[in-house]
Amino acid sequence: MSACLFCRIVKKEIPANALYEDESVIAFNDVNPQAPVHVLVIPKEHVARVMALSSEDLSLVSSIHRAVQELAKKLGVRESGFRLVVNNGPDAGQAVDHLHYHLLAGRKFGWPPG
Ligand code: AMP
Ligand code: ZN
Repeated sequence: MSACLFCRIVKKEIPANALYEDESVIAFNDVNPQAPVHVLVIPKEHVARVMALSSEDLSLVSSIHRAVQELAKKLGVRESGFRLVVNNGPDAGQAVDHLHYHLLAGRKFGWPPG
């Protein structure tokens, strides 16, 4: 999956400032931030989207959520709150076909989302 943009970030072929990294997850700032805090949390393994996850990926999902908790503490938004967004497929506007969680914080978010 070397053509995949986020796999290339995982392999350090494209630079991204890692805010969090462990053996299965990496997180970095979104290039087009939609909030004062806009971090992308991705599995190092290529999984295209939520619908591509299998039951063997349960620990991967758990690791992503663990990373989100660590980032929320590190970025000082644990108490103020944050929004997690995972786009899956065309109607959601998924642009990069490598599973990613948007961690958004630092402002109030409206509901329903746009
Ligand atoms: P989505 O629309 O959910 O697929 O989100 C893809 C996100 O990836 C967008 O918010 C983009 O701004 C972001 N993005 C695209 N290329 C890069 C990159 N090289 N580094 C960081 N974020 C990126
Ligand atoms: Zn990928």
